[in-house]
Amino acid sequence: MKLVDIGANLTHAAFGADLDQVLARARQAGVETIVVTGTTPQDSRSAIDLADSHRGMFATVGVHPHHARDCGPDTISQLKSIAGHPRVVAIGECGLDFNRNYSPHPDQEKWFVAQAELGLELGLPLFLHSRDAHPRFSEILKSLKIHNAVAHCFTGERDELKAYLDLGLYVGITGWICDERRGKHLLELVREIPRDRLLLETDAPYLTPRDLKPQPKARRNEPAFLPHILKAVARALGRPAEELAAETTRNATTLFRLHESGSSAAAQRPLAA
Ligand SMILES: [Zn+2]
Repeated sequence: MKLVDIGANLTHAAFGADLDQVLARARQAGVETIVVTGTTPQDSRSAIDLADSHRGMFATVGVHPHHARDCGPDTISQLKSIAGHPRVVAIGECGLDFNRNYSPHPDQEKWFVAQAELGLELGLPLFLHSRDAHPRFSEILKSLKIHNAVAHCFTGERDELKAYLDLGLYVGITGWICDERRGKHLLELVREIPRDRLLLETDAPYLTPRDLKPQPKARRNEPAFLPHILKAVARALGRPAEELAAETTRNATTLFRLHESGSSAAAQRPLAA
């Protein structure tokens, strides 16, 4: 089984001490490709450095809505200047988070729109984050005619899912679906995602699957747990995990154009020490 973890925050301090072991475990688990999430311009640079020095790794470049308040006149040009790197496969994560509200809503909207426009300009897909922000979030996507994107870590309800699918978006499912309290509705909703629109992700180090036994140290999630999420989704769909693995890998390859992005460079570059 070859899997793609389309969202892992591997620049997070939680991975500072043992990233090489984390990556080795991922590979052993069949997670051969990882897209590292960028959440600020600085962090996006780190994500690129990480991707650039490891086989099978790519990066997104963007500002998470939590950090919208820190954006300034240079932010978009900073993102643009690094987005041309061959390992960069998407703009984001960007979007709206009206759950935590770490940044004022007007700031969040302003910088979400600016990043969405950057994605359109560069022809890169968007890695989208939305929490408790539907329907405003979907309105913005519609008005900008965003079709080339993934709604990462989907946890919403049916109307929100329908809005994304109507736009032709991909939908990312995390270990949230393994949460018997908060994720139960996803067991049914995931059946409504077309086979060519489903993606899998850990969102590591966050969202450790609650039914994972034993629970990892400090409850840190990591890409090696992606097969656990795959199996949960396969059970919900009543379909073989192998089939789903192949489909979701194909979907990730299509959306992020992984066959083009840095693949020749990757073949030439030795594995990092
Ligand atoms: Zn997110």
